[in-house]
Amino acid sequence: MQTNASTSLANNYVSQSIDCLHFIDGQYVSSLNGKTFDNINPATGKVIGIVAEGGKEEVDLAVAAAKRALQGPWKTMSQNDRINVIRRIGDLILERKEELAVLESVDTGKPIWLSGSIDIPRSAYNFHFFADSLRSDGTEAYQMDQVAINYSVRKPLGVVGLINPWNLPLLLMTWKLAPCLAAGNTVVMKPAELTPMTATVLAQICKDAGVPDGVVNIVHGFGPNSAGSALTEHPDVSAISFTGETTTGKIIMASAAKTLKRLSFELGGKNPNIIFADSNLDEVIETTIKSSFINQGEVCLCGSRIYVERPAYEQFLEKFVAKTKELVVGDPFDAKTKVGSLIGEEHFNRVKGYIELAKEEGGTILTGGRSPEGLEQGYYLEPTIIVGLDGNCRTVREEIFGPVVTVIPFDTEEEVLAQANDTHYGLSASVWTNDLRRAHRVAGQIDAGIVWVNTWFLRDLRTPFGGMKQSGIGREGGKHSLEFYSELTNICIKL
Ligand code: NAD
Repeated sequence: MQTNASTSLANNYVSQSIDCLHFIDGQYVSSLNGKTFDNINPATGKVIGIVAEGGKEEVDLAVAAAKRALQGPWKTMSQNDRINVIRRIGDLILERKEELAVLESVDTGKPIWLSGSIDIPRSAYNFHFFADSLRSDGTEAYQMDQVAINYSVRKPLGVVGLINPWNLPLLLMTWKLAPCLAAGNTVVMKPAELTPMTATVLAQICKDAGVPDGVVNIVHGFGPNSAGSALTEHPDVSAISFTGETTTGKIIMASAAKTLKRLSFELGGKNPNIIFADSNLDEVIETTIKSSFINQGEVCLCGSRIYVERPAYEQFLEKFVAKTKELVVGDPFDAKTKVGSLIGEEHFNRVKGYIELAKEEGGTILTGGRSPEGLEQGYYLEPTIIVGLDGNCRTVREEIFGPVVTVIPFDTEEEVLAQANDTHYGLSASVWTNDLRRAHRVAGQIDAGIVWVNTWFLRDLRTPFGGMKQSGIGREGGKHSLEFYSELTNICIKL
C-alpha cells in the first residue's frame, strides 16, 4: 500500500490516491479478475482510493496459505519468540501511529484526536497486552488424590476468519488478531468494506515484526456473495470471530453451521444509562456527553437510551442540552472538532430516517436533528437529543448507531429496570448513583454483559467483554479470548 499521509493536513488529508490490495501469503496482490471498488472519504464524499474486491477465489488462496502456514515456522517457533513477535507488532504500530491515525480518520470521518488518542494506541496495546497474557497465563491442573493428575494443554484452532465492522477498524481488528496469534492460529481477515486502510497497513507491520508469510492474510470485499460469505462458508476455516450487526450475525451463524465452526459474536446494542437523582450531575453530564456522542455515536457501547430519575430530570436535560450544543461538528482534522462525519451516505440516511421516525412517533427534538450549516459535503449530523418517547417506540427500541439519544424520566428502581431490560439487546449499561447498595443491586439486575457504575468505557482488558441476548455470543478479553482461540486437550496421567 502506498501512502502519502501526514498529520499536518489542515486542508489536504492525503495528497494522492491510496489503494488497498489483498495480502496473501506475505504479498500484496490484486484480485484475480482485477475487480475493485471505490473507497470514499466520508468527510468529503470524495473517492480517496481503490480497493481490491475479493471473492471466493481470493479467500480460497488466502485460506490455503494460512493452512500451509500452520505447518511452517509459526508452528515450531518457541513461545518466547512468538511473544516477542506479537509485542513487536504493537511497537511498530506505535512507531507508525501518526500515519495510522490519519488513515483511520480519513477512512471513518472520526476526529483525528480520537484516532490518535484511542484507536491507534489501544490497537498497539492489544498486542502488548496479549503478549503479556501469553507469558503469564497458565492452564488448569487437577490432582485426583494419589491416583492421577490431569492437566490441559492449549493448541491452536487452525485457520481463523476475523470479520470486522467499520466503526473502530484497527482497534477491533487487533482486539481479535492479537489473541488469535497468541494462541498460535493463522488468520484470514476481512475488514469492513468502508474502512480498508489501516488493516492493509497492519499486514505489512505484521510481516515487518517477523510474522511468517501466510500466518496473517487479508481479503478485502463485501459480505454476502463476496469475501465475507466465502470465509464463513469455507470448510478449512475452523472458527469465525465476528463483530457487527445482529442481523449479520444470524446470517453468519446459519452459514457457519454447515461446517460447524466455532463462533464468537460481538453484535449490536441499545444500551441504557440509568441516572439516579443522588448522583453527581456534573460528573454525569461530562461522561454522558461521551457515552452519547463520541465517535459520532458509532460505538456499540454508546448509551443511547438515557433514563433519569424524575427529581433530576429537568436539571439534567437543561445541562445536557447546553453541553451538547457546545460540541463542534466538523472537519475531522480540525483541532476544534468534537464530532466528525458519519461513516457514509447509506448510514447517514438511515440515521436521519430515525430522526424523522422519532418525530412521527411524537418525539420532540431538543437539539440537533440536522446537518450543520456549511457542511453540505460529507455526512455530518448534529448531536441529537430526543424526549417524549416511551419504550414502545421504534426509536427507543432499535439500534440507531449514530449521534442520537432519547431521554426518558422514571420514578422507581423497578420501573427503570423493567424498561432497561425490555429489549432483545444486552450489551452494556451504565448506572449513576452515590448509593453503593443501590448501585450493586441495580447493576446485578440489568441483563447486560458489561455494567459500569459511575463511569463509562473504562476498560481493563483482563475482564470479560461481550453481550447477552442478541448482543453476542461468548466473551472476549484476557483469558476469555485465549479460550476462544484455542483447543484444550486434557491429559490424564495415572500416578
Ligand atoms: P455489518 O454487520 O454490516 O458488517 C460487519 C462486517 O461483516 C463487515 O466486514 C461486512 O462486510 C461483513 N458482512 C456483512 N454481511 C456478511 C455476510 N453475509 N457474511 C460474512 N460477512 C458479512 O456491521 P457494520 O455496519 O459494519 O457495523 C455496525 C454494527 O456493529 C452495529 O450493529 C454495532 O453495534 C456493531 N458493533 C458491535 C460491537 C461489539 O463489540 N458488540 C463493536 C462494534 C460494532
